[in-house]
Amino acid sequence: MHVTRRKFIRHALLGGGSLLLSPFVIHGRTQDDRQWHPAFYKLEQEGKLAERIEKADAILEECRLCPRECGVNRKDGEKGFCQAPQKVMVYVAQPHFGEEISLVGQHGSGTIFFSNCNLRCVFCQNWPIALRGEGDELEDEELAHMMLDLQQIGCHNINLVTPTHVMPHILNATRIALKKGLHIPLVYNTSGYERAEIIKLLDGIVDIYLPDVKYMHAEHAAKYSSDAADYPEMATQAVLEMHRQVGVHEIDKLGVARRGVMIRHLVMPNRVAGTQAFVKWVSEYLPTNTYINIMPQYHVDYKAFEYPQIARGITVKEFLEAMTWAEEQGLTGLDPRSVRVRNHYRRPGGMNSFRSLFN
Ligand code: SF4
Repeated sequence: MHVTRRKFIRHALLGGGSLLLSPFVIHGRTQDDRQWHPAFYKLEQEGKLAERIEKADAILEECRLCPRECGVNRKDGEKGFCQAPQKVMVYVAQPHFGEEISLVGQHGSGTIFFSNCNLRCVFCQNWPIALRGEGDELEDEELAHMMLDLQQIGCHNINLVTPTHVMPHILNATRIALKKGLHIPLVYNTSGYERAEIIKLLDGIVDIYLPDVKYMHAEHAAKYSSDAADYPEMATQAVLEMHRQVGVHEIDKLGVARRGVMIRHLVMPNRVAGTQAFVKWVSEYLPTNTYINIMPQYHVDYKAFEYPQIARGITVKEFLEAMTWAEEQGLTGLDPRSVRVRNHYRRPGGMNSFRSLFN
């Protein structure tokens, strides 16, 4: 699928009609908005953004952008585990209204879905994009224009979905877009399979980190995410670095996210995600008000039906025990929608209403 400008606009309309925003939103910024600047703006003012882009770009010559550390020369077109080609590939860019409430705000989160992935899970819910690599190769300038288009139609942020393997292209595009007026924050929406030292390169560029923490046990990570036994260690170290940079979730006067770490944790059947260990880790290493989205929407996708342990949705009981463990650890930054689902099922008779969630 080619991501032409016309296709972009069509997707934007399908994505929730943000083109029908008031002229005030499209052409103007509130006083509060004008006083606020994304992190990358400040880094450019300090004259450091270009140097950071150069450093990131050089890594592509012997790619070690992620824990797979393939060492291939991506600039010469060699492909590593993620199968990413020389240029950045995008499947679609559109306002998204299904993300966390503070990212969606009134006009949507400006999502850009990158093709390919460095983790490759057997239960991937975006497998045509992430694993089959559907999408189109773009110049960094085209990616920059995509960012500006999303901003123009009112999106509150640029939500970079699966950015790890194309991070240098993203930085380059961000600087191009900044020079043309980009003024909304970047959301680094990652699987969590990151190297903390690579995340350090994003210090002062990314305002909002949205990492998954998918597993806390090496054997599950290896079995379900292509031998990534080091996932728990890599993801937790990366999250600590993200927190060091941007701290906890911050919102503006309208409740829209401006900065901070928002962690996603998908509850899996048969305790595969290690939820109890995850919430314990959060309580030990991060502030108890860290934004944590304990998500119930696991469903059997891609090759998950071949693995009996994860070949079903989660039960109400599994979701409620996950939320209870989080509460027992004193975590207060739980995603409001998860809390509402919890409260729904905790009401008298709620446990009996459905055998499993969303399946
Ligand atoms: S980004 Fe891709 S090529 Fe680079 S180390 Fe990771 S999997 Fe390998």
